[in-house]
Amino acid sequence: MIKKTSSQYSLHHQINSTGYQTGQVLIFSEKLCLFFLILMLFTFGCGLNRNAELDHLPFLNEKLFLTPNSYIFVDLKGDLGVDKISSPAFFMKFKVNTSQRLSLAVNPAKTWVRFKLSPDVLKALGHGPWTLELASSLADRATLYVPDPLAKHGLKEVRADRRGTENPHDVKFRNLSFTLDSPASPQSFYYLKMEASRPAVLPLVLRSWKGFYSYASYDYLVFGMLYGTIGCMLFYNLFIFFSLRDKIYLVYVAYMLSFLFYFPLLNGQIGTVIDIDPLELQTWERFFLGGSIFFACSFCRLFFRTWQSVPRWDLVVRSFQIMALVIIALGLVGLFYWAAWLAKFAGAFGPLSLVVAAVLCGREGARSAKYYLTANIFLMAGTLIYVLWSLGIVKKVPGDILFTLGPAIEAVLLSFALGDRIKYLKHQTHALAASEAVYKRASETDGLTGLFNKRYLMEQLEGDLAKTDAKGQQLCLIIMDVDHFKRFNDTYGHPEGDKVLVTLAQIISASIRFRDYGCRFGGEEFSITLPDTDLKSARIVAERIRERFGAHGFNPGEAKNVFVTVSMGLAQYSPGEGAVNLIKRADSSLYQAKAMGRDLLVIAE
Ligand code: GH3
Ligand code: MG
Ligand code: MG
Repeated sequence: MIKKTSSQYSLHHQINSTGYQTGQVLIFSEKLCLFFLILMLFTFGCGLNRNAELDHLPFLNEKLFLTPNSYIFVDLKGDLGVDKISSPAFFMKFKVNTSQRLSLAVNPAKTWVRFKLSPDVLKALGHGPWTLELASSLADRATLYVPDPLAKHGLKEVRADRRGTENPHDVKFRNLSFTLDSPASPQSFYYLKMEASRPAVLPLVLRSWKGFYSYASYDYLVFGMLYGTIGCMLFYNLFIFFSLRDKIYLVYVAYMLSFLFYFPLLNGQIGTVIDIDPLELQTWERFFLGGSIFFACSFCRLFFRTWQSVPRWDLVVRSFQIMALVIIALGLVGLFYWAAWLAKFAGAFGPLSLVVAAVLCGREGARSAKYYLTANIFLMAGTLIYVLWSLGIVKKVPGDILFTLGPAIEAVLLSFALGDRIKYLKHQTHALAASEAVYKRASETDGLTGLFNKRYLMEQLEGDLAKTDAKGQQLCLIIMDVDHFKRFNDTYGHPEGDKVLVTLAQIISASIRFRDYGCRFGGEEFSITLPDTDLKSARIVAERIRERFGAHGFNPGEAKNVFVTVSMGLAQYSPGEGAVNLIKRADSSLYQAKAMGRDLLVIAE
């Protein structure tokens, strides 16, 4: 008996239960992926084309940090109006800001910035209008008070909106921005009020409008590419899920979908489409962050079967999964503070736990661990850079882009990992099928002669008879027995007797057609099944074998040219009779042949 190990079984089962032709599915999916890639390149091309309409691409780099030349005041209660803020009493309360970045106070406190725009500064940037950008998507709201002699308190209120405003120069953009015209007087102050519901460190960046437009276009392109990559991989694997029905693909899709919502919420792109309240936005953000952590853990568990391979570490991964659910719950009930802390913890250590799981499983020889590991290292690196960037520790890198790059690379590498896993499962199934075939063949074959054994005959004959009935064909069965074989054995020894049996088997094999088959029916008894054969042809075959065997001279030991004969019974299948009866009839003909003097063929009535 062959005993399948449980892992062999589950692999086999996994592949079989899906009932697909993997090859075809993968070829089609690859085409689909190519289609998405072309689509992505097309959008990229469109973006470039849009940029080409601007004749001043070099402006891209010309930006000025307004932040170091400004004055800051934090209104802790957050209830002061611009009339108070701009009054002489508050003038000295503003502190000069020397750093390129400023930390926004968290709600309800509001951060005020006072600045002037000198013509020299604006000139350095090129022609107006100019754009002032709060270069972090974490700023929730911003109001600019522009000097205007005609307005109340000499200041005109302008609100920034990510979706753009009626001012045609205001661009739909993920970061809050204002369009500035030449100031009425270079000496008058602008006041900028900023709100944030979580800590944010940002520079205030000035560009010419064209420069800003160009910069924003590139920003769209970069994020479009990153989200596009995740989207591509999502659709690709969703399609594979529909074909394979393997749960892990669905988990992958859910994981990438969480990313596809989380990052545009975090990076501000969602805000360019809908007007969403900052707190509501954070709730959703936590929701999808929790979702991505949850599915990242599920993916890891399914991918490595951690509950089997590393049961102890599996508990750690599961605890992060539970934490993810808690983050979602806290976000939904509005406990943002705790949700934020838990999210920070899970965000920092969750990916680490997955990396450890991958290392542990990889050490135990888990397939595709390398892809998985690389993917998660990219994700971790992105997260780390983002944390350092948003704290203002790392400055010279685009932290939000790098943070989004992590999942994009992860999407591709995990997809590779899944592909690699399928290849492995396929390979395993083939190997298993091959070894099963070997065992099956062994269980049906006679070791001495290489012919089939009686078990095979009994199984096969039933099927052959059914086919014969269905097709209205004829079938014949020959049973033969070596004559006086006991005597031969006694004279020349058992090993020499074996040679006789092997020779008879060879003659049988050489004398029959491909679809006929010979079996070693018993000790020195053999059978031949001849499907789709009438009695006349079967008789010719039987006689040919009897004659060839009888003419074969054996040289056992010292003896030369010893001849052995065989007696045969031949029966033609009569429709409706069973295999047992057919064998019985052939067998009794064989005994008739023995009785009639041996070395004979007798045909059953
Ligand atoms: P008959 O002509 O009536 O068939 O006489 P017989 O001697 O062939 O028949 P019997 O049934 O008396 O003896 C069969 C012999 O076949 C006995 C046994 O030793 C021999 N035999 C059975 N299997 C093997 C085998 O695998 N190798 C060898 N060498 N001999 C075998
Ligand atoms: Mg016998
Ligand atoms: Mg015999």
